[in-house]
Amino acid sequence: MYDIVIIGSGPAGLSSAIYAQRAGLKAVVVEKNYLGTGQISESERVDNYPGLYGENGFDLGEKFRSHAESLGTEFIEGEAVKISKNATDYSIELDNGNSLETHTVIYAVGTERRKLQVEGEKEFSGRGVSYCAVCDAAFYKDKITAVAGGGDTALGDAALLSKFAKKVYLIHRRDKFRANKTLQQKVENISNVEILLNSQIKKINGSNKVESITVDKNGAETEIKVDGVFVAVGSVPNSAILKDLVEVDNNGYIVANEDGVTSANGIFVAGDVRTKKLRQVVTAVSDGANCVLSAEDYLEKIK
Ligand code: NAP
Repeated sequence: MYDIVIIGSGPAGLSSAIYAQRAGLKAVVVEKNYLGTGQISESERVDNYPGLYGENGFDLGEKFRSHAESLGTEFIEGEAVKISKNATDYSIELDNGNSLETHTVIYAVGTERRKLQVEGEKEFSGRGVSYCAVCDAAFYKDKITAVAGGGDTALGDAALLSKFAKKVYLIHRRDKFRANKTLQQKVENISNVEILLNSQIKKINGSNKVESITVDKNGAETEIKVDGVFVAVGSVPNSAILKDLVEVDNNGYIVANEDGVTSANGIFVAGDVRTKKLRQVVTAVSDGANCVLSAEDYLEKIK
């Protein structure tokens, strides 16, 4: 029986692991198919994490992980597919058939990339359609690319792609970007980035791979020749397995304040998957620490 099962090994989960180890709790981190520490590992550069200015997202995540490992954190590979309550405790079933018994759960699985949901997106995924510029930008040397979205991810992707591609179309559905002002100014000044506002990709076309996109601007459609499309239109929370146990909001985010306390006794939530205003590494690691404190309070009451 664990004191805490931490589900997810992104910054929020690893921060929980560090705090749990230091508190002397019996804890384990469950992670699905480890490829890096969550979505931050796909950021080329993180400029807003205090003290580690300019760090590559993957490297930053690896530092968090090494820290947790150095304290003796136990990691188990597997995807949590079911969580059920037995009296005061929880049973977590993994996709590999294993199951874990625990007094508390810290749920820190983050979000996954939202799809554009247009014709050709699924068909050309991996053949010109990408959701990770850090992973794939280098394949587009001297090619023409498009980025869909108007947030930090989309503008960061456009800036990164501009170093490889000869041309980058940044296509955003509104007349204003959501991304931070510094990034907006940076991208507006890159000569090979062309910004198309009030525009939406309607269709991704090609035979074996992406060849063009159909873009709608105020009802008028234009076909633009591109070799690659980077989709950066936000994320959706991975809360499906908890939706019968905890309260979620209309968008599927698990309702909790910064203490991570959810509507279910013994289930705490950290990072991007909870309701919050600012989804950043700095808030995720803070959530992880707070959740362990909340879990300790709860354990004192039930033990
Ligand atoms: P986001 O901020 O939610 O932005 C998503 C963008 O996609 C918005 O501009 C949105 O348009 C657009 N969009 C949504 N659905 C669409 C659709 N169906 N078709 C076309 N466009 C659509 O997502 P994000 O950029 O991935 O950022 C997520 C969080 O991570 C944010 O808090 C961000 O600050 C953070 N982040 C931080 C860093 C960093 O610090 N280095 C890097 C990346 C991301 P509207 O604007 O019209 O809604």
